[in-house]
Amino acid sequence: MSSVHVIGAGLAGLSCAVRIDAAGLNVTVHEAAGYAGGRCRSYLDSKLDRRIDNGNHLLLSGNRSALAYLSEIGAADSLVAPEGAGVAGAPPALKIGGTPPCVPPGFAFLDLENGGRWTVPAGLSCLLRVPGGRFRDYLDGFRLSRAGPGATVAGILDVEAPVFRNFWEPLCVGVLNISAEEGAASLMAAVLGETLGLGAAACSPRVVREGLSESFILPALKKLENKVLFNHRLKSIELSVDKAASLDFGGGDNVVLGDGDHVVLAVPPLTAADLIPGLEAPRGSRAIVNAHFLMEEKRSSVSAGVSLLGLVGGVSQWLFVRGGIASVTISAADHLAGESNEVLAGRLWPEVAMALGLGGAPMPPVRIVKEKRATFAQTPEEIMRRPGPVTKWRNLLLAGDWTNTGLPATIEGAIRSGQNAAAEIISG
Ligand SMILES: Cc1cc2nc3c(=O)[nH]c(=O)nc-3n(C[C@H](O)[C@H](O)[C@H](O)COP(=O)(O)OP(=O)(O)OC[C@H]3O[C@@H](n4cnc5c(N)ncnc54)[C@H](O)[C@@H]3O)c2cc1C
Repeated sequence: MSSVHVIGAGLAGLSCAVRIDAAGLNVTVHEAAGYAGGRCRSYLDSKLDRRIDNGNHLLLSGNRSALAYLSEIGAADSLVAPEGAGVAGAPPALKIGGTPPCVPPGFAFLDLENGGRWTVPAGLSCLLRVPGGRFRDYLDGFRLSRAGPGATVAGILDVEAPVFRNFWEPLCVGVLNISAEEGAASLMAAVLGETLGLGAAACSPRVVREGLSESFILPALKKLENKVLFNHRLKSIELSVDKAASLDFGGGDNVVLGDGDHVVLAVPPLTAADLIPGLEAPRGSRAIVNAHFLMEEKRSSVSAGVSLLGLVGGVSQWLFVRGGIASVTISAADHLAGESNEVLAGRLWPEVAMALGLGGAPMPPVRIVKEKRATFAQTPEEIMRRPGPVTKWRNLLLAGDWTNTGLPATIEGAIRSGQNAAAEIISG
């Protein structure tokens, strides 16, 4: 039987391999690291003595490819609606203990400059609930949906409007991991079309109940049994005129590709460009910084449930509280990536303490995680460099959040890219 070799056990590689496996084809995943998950994984942090995620990840209920993947690996119930979302005027909006409030789905926000709190309900009426939101701001959403490929988000929207500062800008930075001045409007349009544009059922926040690996990675590895080879880095691909001929893993470990065999390269863009000379791929990237604060046991008695709060007017952008860890995320964080961990923690903790109503509480133990190449730079110029899944070598396909899915570099985009590559192979 012909074989499919998937290179990379991130979400793109795993989602591809799961579909190939389900179609009854032979599949082997080759992963360079000693673990799976790539940029979306959990691990035991020795300093905090807790399992943490490399970074907080937010999904939306309309992320259909991600939800389909979770169903396929038997983890559909591992995503939850965060507590606190939908609670206006809180401190209760972000609870560290106690009973979860019963609220409609939405996003709770805090303005770190003036202490203002508001909730943006999931659904089309959201813009009217943003401080300063006016009826005509609805038109911004329509303008975005008609954006051409060269437009930036800030180029389309009214950057002076309060709704830009309090909604569109945090949304753009969160979704595209780049400032609204640089971010491609067409990618925001694609997200809006698949989420906000479909109503509340498609744009409610979702977070992992336990950890990224528990939701997205470990169930997939279980499904794939022993078909994932770790510490198995692809060193080079021998390419003939129209097909990939063999894979070199170093030290004489060489896989010759037979007729009908396929390779799916699901590695980051710079690695793909190294392996395939002349490949057109995005080159720039943007960083994401996460700070995970270990909360005192008596304050962290929450047993189930996750809280989420959007933050504007400060350095921190999103605050997640889960299992005794309060984590802040800062996207488009290249300007912070060079700062020392101590300085960063000192800047972020007062904001976290304010959000949690902890006043001048001393800073607890903290782990700073800097992902310097969290995503490719999602500018209008760079998205023109995204290749599709098919290459000029008939048995060599591409996957990864940086390939041309029409979506931003997200969990949804990565999983869809893997599913697209699998569909190409399965359909022949
Ligand atoms: C801090 C952070 C926060 C994020 N927040 C969100 C969020 O809130 N919501 C959201 O939807 N998305 C978010 N993302 C984006 C999301 O995590 C990524 O889009 C997704 O994980 C990318 O998956 P991938 O499979 O395309 O790439 P990767 O995860 O990079 O996987 C590539 C894999 O290939 C392996 N590899 C590399 N070279 C080789 C080789 N030569 N041979 C074999 N294997 C190789 C790597 O080790 C890796 O496992 C975030 C990302 C980060 C870093």
